[in-house]
Amino acid sequence: MGAFSGFYKKTIQERIELLKQERGINDGEAKVLLDSGALDLETANRMIENLVGVNHLPLGIAPGFRINGKEYAVPMCIEEPSVIAAAAKAAKLAAQSGGFTADADEPVMTGQVQLVNVPEDVLEKFNANKGEIAARAKELASGMEMYGGGYRECEAHTLETSRGRMLVAVFYVDVRDAMGANTLNTLLEGIAPLLEEKVAGEARLRILTNLAVRRKARAKCTWKKEVVGEDAIEGILDGYELAVNDIYRCCTHNKGIMNGVDAVAVATGNDWRAVEASAHAYAAMDGYTPLNKFYKNEDGDLVGEIELPLAVGTVGGAINTSPTAGIALKLLGAESAMELSMVMAAVGLAQNFAALYALGTEGIQKGHMKLHASNLAAGAGAKEGEIEKVAKKMQEQNEYSVESAKNILKKLRGE
Ligand code: NAD
Repeated sequence: MGAFSGFYKKTIQERIELLKQERGINDGEAKVLLDSGALDLETANRMIENLVGVNHLPLGIAPGFRINGKEYAVPMCIEEPSVIAAAAKAAKLAAQSGGFTADADEPVMTGQVQLVNVPEDVLEKFNANKGEIAARAKELASGMEMYGGGYRECEAHTLETSRGRMLVAVFYVDVRDAMGANTLNTLLEGIAPLLEEKVAGEARLRILTNLAVRRKARAKCTWKKEVVGEDAIEGILDGYELAVNDIYRCCTHNKGIMNGVDAVAVATGNDWRAVEASAHAYAAMDGYTPLNKFYKNEDGDLVGEIELPLAVGTVGGAINTSPTAGIALKLLGAESAMELSMVMAAVGLAQNFAALYALGTEGIQKGHMKLHASNLAAGAGAKEGEIEKVAKKMQEQNEYSVESAKNILKKLRGE
């Protein structure tokens, strides 16, 4: 981990100094970070409608991720205590075991045009005009060519529905470092009149699908038994097996993965609703299943693998307007959307490893509530100087609630 060793023990100011030295953060960027994100109302008012204020989320760093031999300090934006600590712990154990390997598909996004009231031979009509349709699509997505992307292919299928036969024309575009929703939607709206004219029916929905199955990222790690411990490995495998066999656990299992994935998506200004929708639809394609796998190799080490669609960008959308998103991307040092998606896959896997590690051994409440104790103390009315004392007492008593915090605070104040 090198320079980031003991990051959690540093003061906020010391951490920022380290980011300046290690990640080239300049004074202006440091000021933005120290100014709670510094999203001014004027900028915010351009981002959404009916603005009345700005809501902040904490931004932290999970250091120690070694992925394909490169060291990452991963920015994570999340309100839930213990997620970043858990990711960092899993990353450390992974690094001691050789780190993660990861790869990603080319960033190809998928979009659909729905044509209703179509005749029986609609597919033949689509195929007969495919050359012209493809040429128009290429033209409409030509803005991506300068970045190495652009139109890739199209196809169509029919659906027999309660509202009659429909044609779904599907378009694939390589959007390179963008998430690509606007690029796809522009193409789809642009091509719809040609489809109506040359194929049949009336165009209704013209929008990308968030189920970006051609844009998946994968990560893998073999956690060594000498590093993790054989009992912990058994606990992780038992916990994983419950997710495989029980949808009630599987939902929470995948939520744990998304704790990490979403936190990176939010930190880097990405559309986390898109990432969420995509991940859960992908998990449900063959019955609802875990997004990852755990198994033991012949040496008794724990192998973890994850694969999920990750339509994320390093340009466009809110990335260019959010003051902290650009800084987070700089901290991460991902050169492309594909690299970002690989990091997110590794973080998702690490997050689930950490959750199962804790659940299979001491349970998560100890670590979770320890971090949460100071929030409870503040919620009970403790002021600066009192918060730490109340939190410490709660830990000693192993009683974590606002009521217990209030009682401790009363005693502390001699009331
Ligand atoms: P965008 O419209 O900002 O497009 C990105 C732009 O970046 C491109 O048009 C291109 O000109 C430019 N660019 C510069 N360098 C590039 C590079 N190396 N690779 C690719 N492009 C480069 O953003 P977008 O990614 O098309 O759309 C994302 C936004 O769309 C998000 O804010 C998302 O919330 C929103 N959105 C999502 C949905 C959905 O998920 N269903 C629907 C509508 C809109």
